[in-house]
Amino acid sequence: MFLRIDRLQIELPKPSQPDPNAAAAVQELLGGRFGEMSTLMNYTYQSFNFRGRDKLRPYYDLIANIATEELGHIELVAATVNLMLTGATKAAPPDAAPLGVGANARNTHHFIVTAQTALVGNSMGQAWSGDYVFNSGNLVLDLLHNFFLECGARLHKIRVYEMTSNPVAREMIGYLLVRGGVHATAYAKALETLTGVEMTKLLPIPKIENAKFPEARKYEERGVHRNLYRFSLEDYKEISKIWRGPSPTGDGDLQVVDGPPPGGVVPTLPPVPEEFAPEFDPGTIFEIARKLQQAAS
Ligand code: MN
Ligand code: MN
Repeated sequence: MFLRIDRLQIELPKPSQPDPNAAAAVQELLGGRFGEMSTLMNYTYQSFNFRGRDKLRPYYDLIANIATEELGHIELVAATVNLMLTGATKAAPPDAAPLGVGANARNTHHFIVTAQTALVGNSMGQAWSGDYVFNSGNLVLDLLHNFFLECGARLHKIRVYEMTSNPVAREMIGYLLVRGGVHATAYAKALETLTGVEMTKLLPIPKIENAKFPEARKYEERGVHRNLYRFSLEDYKEISKIWRGPSPTGDGDLQVVDGPPPGGVVPTLPPVPEEFAPEFDPGTIFEIARKLQQAAS
C-alpha cells in the first residue's frame, strides 16, 4: 500500500508568464511512451507481478522502491505543466470568447478538457497507453528494459530541454535528469550483479554529462546523483545491497537515504472562472468550504 506526502520532490520556481505551447511539449515527459507515466507503471506492475520475491529481495525492493519515486515524478511534471498554463486566459463572460487563446494553442485539450491543467497524454495529444508497459516476468529482461526505458526517457528530456528555455520546465528537467541517471545506474548495477556485464560503462546515453545542464549540475553539486531515496517507513531496505560502492561519476560513494528528499510546496492553482474551474463564481463554494472547516474545528 501507499502513504502520501503533500509535497513535490523539489521546489519549482514561480513562472513570470504563461507558456501553453511549451507546456504542450512538456506533456511528452508525462504521458509519452518514455514519460513518467511509463516509468511509473512499468516498475509498479513489475513489482506487483514479481515472482520469487522471497529469494530475490534486493531486486524486488529496487524495482518497487523506484516505482514509488516515479509516482512523485508524474506529480512533479503535472505541476510543471500546470504552472506553465497558469494565466493563459483572462476571466470574462462567455460571449467575450475568453478561451480564444486556446483555439491557437498546440494542445486544445488543455483548454477544452482539463481547464488548463495536465493531461495523461503526450505532446501530440495522444492518451498514455498501458501498451507502454513491458513486464515479461524474466528478471534480466525486465531490468534490461528498464535500463533502456530510463535512457530513452533521458533522450526525450534533453530534447524537450532544447525546445524550451522556460525556467519552470528546465528546473523540472534538470532534477529529473539527475534522478533518471540514478535509476539507469541502479538498473545497470542490478544487471551487473546478475550477469557480470559492465552495464554502467554504457552510461551516459546519449553521451553528454548531466553536468552540461546548469539546472542538473546544481543538484549534482548537492550530491543528489549519489542518493537513492528509500520511499518507505520500514520496507525496501535491501536496495542497499545493490545501491552501494563508488559512484560512476567518481566523486564519492553511493548512498541510500532513508526517507524522501525535503522537497517543496505543491503550488496552489488559482480559480479559472472562464473554465468554470472550480466554478464560474467560486465565491459560493469557497464559503461552503470555509463553514465546513469552521464547523470541524
Ligand atoms: Mn522519473
Ligand atoms: Mn526513472
